[in-house]
Amino acid sequence: MTLPPLTLYLAAPRGFCAGVDRAIKIVEMALEKWGAPVFVRHEIVHNKFVVDGLRAKGAVFVEELDDCPDDRPVIFSAHGVPKAIPAEAARRMMIHVDATCPLVTKVHSEAARHHEAGLQMVMIGHAGHPETLGTMGQLPEGEVLLVETAEDVAGLQPRDPGKLAFITQTTLSVDDTAGIVAALKQRFPAIIGPAREDICYATTNRQAAVKAVAPKIDALLVIGAPNSSNSKRLVEVGRAAGCAYAQLVQRAGDIDWRALDGIRAVGVTAGASAPEVLVDEVIDAFRARFDVTVEMVETAIETIEFKVPRLLREPA
Ligand code: SF4
Repeated sequence: MTLPPLTLYLAAPRGFCAGVDRAIKIVEMALEKWGAPVFVRHEIVHNKFVVDGLRAKGAVFVEELDDCPDDRPVIFSAHGVPKAIPAEAARRMMIHVDATCPLVTKVHSEAARHHEAGLQMVMIGHAGHPETLGTMGQLPEGEVLLVETAEDVAGLQPRDPGKLAFITQTTLSVDDTAGIVAALKQRFPAIIGPAREDICYATTNRQAAVKAVAPKIDALLVIGAPNSSNSKRLVEVGRAAGCAYAQLVQRAGDIDWRALDGIRAVGVTAGASAPEVLVDEVIDAFRARFDVTVEMVETAIETIEFKVPRLLREPA
């Protein structure tokens, strides 16, 4: 049977970022050092395939520190945690390892610095996302006001409009965030913010690669989890860049082949918490149905690596 021709454009960079890579390594090294079970508060990164793999090795995923026994190590996820959580682990004298991405920790430090200088914070982020909860939880209640959209800016009621600073979640849409920052600066001309938003290099690079792929394709598939903020943003960026069909899939089994009927060019990317093995699975699924030519669209080369915490580098 002759298969129809299809060009598959692979966006690069895609998939694992340095923060995700480090967080997974932390759980693996903790299992090696202390044996199973090692408890992990929240999904270490938002990907079921990764979480299931670590669970099979002896990691136990819980949502609250109260669900962890005192005598087993606990790891905090890459998204960051409110300040009260490590403090409580220390009070209970638990071995605890913080897998918060260093780029999220940097935002925590910014918030603390502005707070010490007497400024109230505005956080641009998604309500309820663990990173937002963790970052807002660095400061006392009421010190961080959350905005999700440019429209939210009109409703802000700061203590003193002349004493404000803003921070952002690291995994937002670069373009949407620029609009929210502009609205903040218009309403609060004295507001202080980072020179560039806190959106991390990995989020920025993955979105730029999708924009480069978009003009070439009939459809875009983003491999990532439904609770992965940066993956959902890639779908939005694809749509905004003109892809009429842009979908999030967790793995090959989720692809809606009927929706792809008649396409000749597809783009594939993966969120920062999606492993490359799932990209390979998707490519193989296309090869089973099409005569596939793979073309790489590379917009940046990433070389960033983060060290794991010293506690894990020391012998047990
Ligand atoms: Fe860190 Fe960015 Fe990766 Fe989040 S997406 S873990 S902030 S590098």
